[in-house]
Amino acid sequence: MNTPDTPLLPNHLAGRWQTGTGRGQTLLDPVLGTPLVRVDNTGLDLAEGFAFAREQGGAALRALSYGERAAMLAAVVKVLQANRDAYYDIATRNSGTVTKDSAVDIDGGIFTLGYYAKQGEALGEARCLLDGDRIRMGKDPLFQTQHVFTPTRGVALFINAFNFPSWGLWEKAAPALLSGVPVIVKPATATAWLTQRMVADVVEAGVLPPGALSVICGSSAGLMDQLQPFDVVSFTGSAETARIIRSHPAVAQRSVRCNIEADSLNSALLDPAATEGGEAFNLLVSEVVREMTVKSGQKCTAIRRIFVPRALYAAVAQAIGAKLARTSVGNPRNESVRMGSLVSREQYDGVLAGIARLRTEADVLFDGNGSALVDADAAVAACVAPVLLGTQDAVAARVLHEVEVFGPVATLMPYDGEAQAFDLIRRGEGSLVASVYSENPDFIARAAAELADSHGRVHAISPDVATSQSGHGNVMPMSLHGGPGRAGGGEELGGLRALGFYHRRSAVQASSAALDAMVARGVPFKL
Ligand code: NAP
Repeated sequence: MNTPDTPLLPNHLAGRWQTGTGRGQTLLDPVLGTPLVRVDNTGLDLAEGFAFAREQGGAALRALSYGERAAMLAAVVKVLQANRDAYYDIATRNSGTVTKDSAVDIDGGIFTLGYYAKQGEALGEARCLLDGDRIRMGKDPLFQTQHVFTPTRGVALFINAFNFPSWGLWEKAAPALLSGVPVIVKPATATAWLTQRMVADVVEAGVLPPGALSVICGSSAGLMDQLQPFDVVSFTGSAETARIIRSHPAVAQRSVRCNIEADSLNSALLDPAATEGGEAFNLLVSEVVREMTVKSGQKCTAIRRIFVPRALYAAVAQAIGAKLARTSVGNPRNESVRMGSLVSREQYDGVLAGIARLRTEADVLFDGNGSALVDADAAVAACVAPVLLGTQDAVAARVLHEVEVFGPVATLMPYDGEAQAFDLIRRGEGSLVASVYSENPDFIARAAAELADSHGRVHAISPDVATSQSGHGNVMPMSLHGGPGRAGGGEELGGLRALGFYHRRSAVQASSAALDAMVARGVPFKL
């Protein structure tokens, strides 16, 4: 839909605000179907913008120490905190999320920035990071090698997904800017407004040097073509687009470093010794219901497959269904609504098509779509109620281990024996997270050892951490985010480990005196 009288959001590139010259794409309220704003980047001089970020933004950032850049991040936090109300308003209107779901994105992003501001402060006046001790290279003790990490002299291009317009920007921008690398973000079109508004507030506040933070909304055409050997690109989105990014000449021929976060069929695993109504059982049921309904299941980390001992299949299905039945769905402006909408009618169609595919191998154990929406028109709103599917034959299933439905949908599967459970989980071919529900530390340790190689994160929930655990799907800045195989093979966050992506490792081979002088500029760092 193109609506020329809808406000057109400007892009920030080459240190100035620029509007596209095309008709643009209109962003819609996914609940009401009404137009909100337009985005467009037609006619922008991308080469000029990337060069400006690389040369002006990069030089200004690299002139600062880690501690000074950390102080900049703290200043960004203040700007964002001062404008939080506007962000919540945009999220309600453009993402269709209830307040607590908007918080995951907005406050999650601000929290992550604050975390890196604190961590960065501890790096102080350093200008580079020292990797290990110096090592003698031969008989002569004077000539040695010291490995160092120095910030790359390029730009970081972020091509982001629609589900986290705030967190998706800041969880990447925090380590990039702390490293001294300028950022150009291209948000997903459907929800670009929040990203654009946050960048606008930060630019307006003047807390970052010109060129340090740019935003390009609308088409992705031509962005990858701008990348040069010292640039990096971080992509979050579908496996299909990830393939295009990976095979682009920038990556395939110019060795642009590339981080991919893609689809994932995350699992929840109940201990084989669990009992109906026991603590582990109840913890799994609560966590699954939370994961299915937070942000309408539009979280890359959400639980998609639930593995339980065969004897508990019916009881778990019943308990999850009973809780899901209490989830009111509809217009997030109505306070009685617990779950809002998907981000667009396209996603709505995609989720319904995905459920139909899963149903070729699974039965419907619970479907909330029989209930009326609250304050929303089912013919217009992108609202889908929770759906729990299930199969008795997890081993024969194929689609259930392959198709990620990006909505409030999960599939329950029984297993026969611990070894089979691990095998079934691994059929996801690499996921972001698996959670384990158990009262037995030995089982948790075994499960972690079995699942760690195929998961970026193993999250164990036992009764003693029931109230303190951070949540299966919550990505915390101190822990790694990313997963091998079909999850994209990327790595983000994990505390200061995230700085590695934005630095280059190099071996400096020199005399002890020269290395002494260099070491004085650095700070010890362990990746
Ligand atoms: P998508 O269609 O692949 O889009 C992702 C981003 O890529 C958008 O900004 C999109 O721009 C852009 N894009 C599309 N085609 C492109 C091309 N040819 N070249 C360069 N960029 C291009 O993915 P999506 O459907 O929005 O996102 C949902 C998926 O993301 C889910 O599968 C989910 O699992 C995954 N996800 C993963 C994580 C994670 O951390 N692992 C987090 C969130 C989401 P436009 O919007 O303008 O098309």
